[in-house]
Amino acid sequence: MTATTASVVMCPKCGHVTHTYCSTRRYGIKIRYRKCPGCQNRIKTIQQLDNLEAGEKIVPVMTPKEQGKYLADIRAKQAKRRASMCKANSLTNQEVAEIKYLLKNNVQTQAYTAMQYGVDTLSIQKIANGVVFSNVKTPRRMVDI
Ligand SMILES: [Zn+2]
Repeated sequence: MTATTASVVMCPKCGHVTHTYCSTRRYGIKIRYRKCPGCQNRIKTIQQLDNLEAGEKIVPVMTPKEQGKYLADIRAKQAKRRASMCKANSLTNQEVAEIKYLLKNNVQTQAYTAMQYGVDTLSIQKIANGVVFSNVKTPRRMVDI
């Protein structure tokens, strides 16, 4: 198989075409981190920028240090994305009080409540766990809201 160009790199495990999810350029080489949609195998390839005909070469799996850094990066990105998804800040105190009442009395599920108030489930979980809006008291009766 010689078709290891920048765009087509086969998974060495199962032969699926891998796709690039991250790439970086350093010291005259292009590094691509690729994932196989077939078996979830992750590979890293390098390509010499001054010798593109050589194509991408698969290099051995990441070192433990690289894996640690990679995981940390991914987690940081996920945390960032979750934070941006958390729309709890758009809720009013009254809505939060309603949500707290609904959750405490098991009127409806967190997922349904999230949909009803147009926020993600994580926001509802945070409200339920007092991570956010801990200043809003859980009303004892619906009419107290
Ligand atoms: Zn594969």
